Amino acid sequence: MCEYCVQHGAGRRWYLNARNLSKELATSDLVRDFAVPYFSRSSALGPDGFSSRQERAARPIRPGEKEAVFNRYRSYLHHQVITTEEVVQILGLSSNQTEDHERSVVRFPCICRHTSIGKEKVLHCFGIAFTHLYTRRFPYYLGGRHEYLSPDEAVEIITKMAEDERVVHAVSAVGVPYAGMICNCDMDVCHPYLHRVRLGIPEPFHKGHYVTSVDEHRCTGCGACEEACPFGAIVVSPTIGAASVDADSCYGCGICGRICPEGALRLQEGERKSGF
Ligand code: SF4
Ligand code: SF4
Repeated sequence: MCEYCVQHGAGRRWYLNARNLSKELATSDLVRDFAVPYFSRSSALGPDGFSSRQERAARPIRPGEKEAVFNRYRSYLHHQVITTEEVVQILGLSSNQTEDHERSVVRFPCICRHTSIGKEKVLHCFGIAFTHLYTRRFPYYLGGRHEYLSPDEAVEIITKMAEDERVVHAVSAVGVPYAGMICNCDMDVCHPYLHRVRLGIPEPFHKGHYVTSVDEHRCTGCGACEEACPFGAIVVSPTIGAASVDADSCYGCGICGRICPEGALRLQEGERKSGF
């Protein structure tokens, strides 16, 4: 259980605590006060030219930058990797809301792709429940580039996206622990992840609760998982002819398990040396 779950999970994972999809949190002024300027700044920025992980990593760290990023994420932004199955569970919680607009999902362009590579037409981010607040709060960013879905439609789309595009799902909370935003990340342009890597602090992009393990009896050493892992956590040993996972590098995204042709990879509750 991570620190955020201890604070906000009421005994379970924070994003599976139904209270964290409540109207009270969705309508909190804190969400508006933090998210509106963030989206406003980002929509004004547009593509900033830092299009690759390598270019971003090479930028020198300015004095005080690490502390500023630490404080910003620590106080009002929480991004955390979750599996496709957990996304479906969150969407299931939203299905219990009573009104249509409380249950619906809004799909809109990813702000990281927008501000790094200018990819605006593809709708990758999902706002869950109370979606009318998105269109009311961020009209300048959305600019009509969004669509409403039912939870069932969202499950179908997100499952296909996970299979076809190998995106990393993350649940994001802004200002309050409202679990109503699902990102589908490309690790080459994801701002929070690149902050984490560049500054060497976990706060901008937390790992998930799982770690993958390999069943060596099933593994044929084909290398598909090594090629697919966005975090470089798997290597296939030429001597033993099987894959092995560096648990400390694994973010628990579940991508490898979906593509292994032998069913040799399993997600398990994570024991991490360096926390989240
Ligand atoms: S994809 Fe599966 S079979 Fe292939 S190397 Fe990875 S664990 Fe082994
Ligand atoms: S080893 Fe598998 S679960 Fe872990 S980060 Fe890589 S793809 Fe994701």
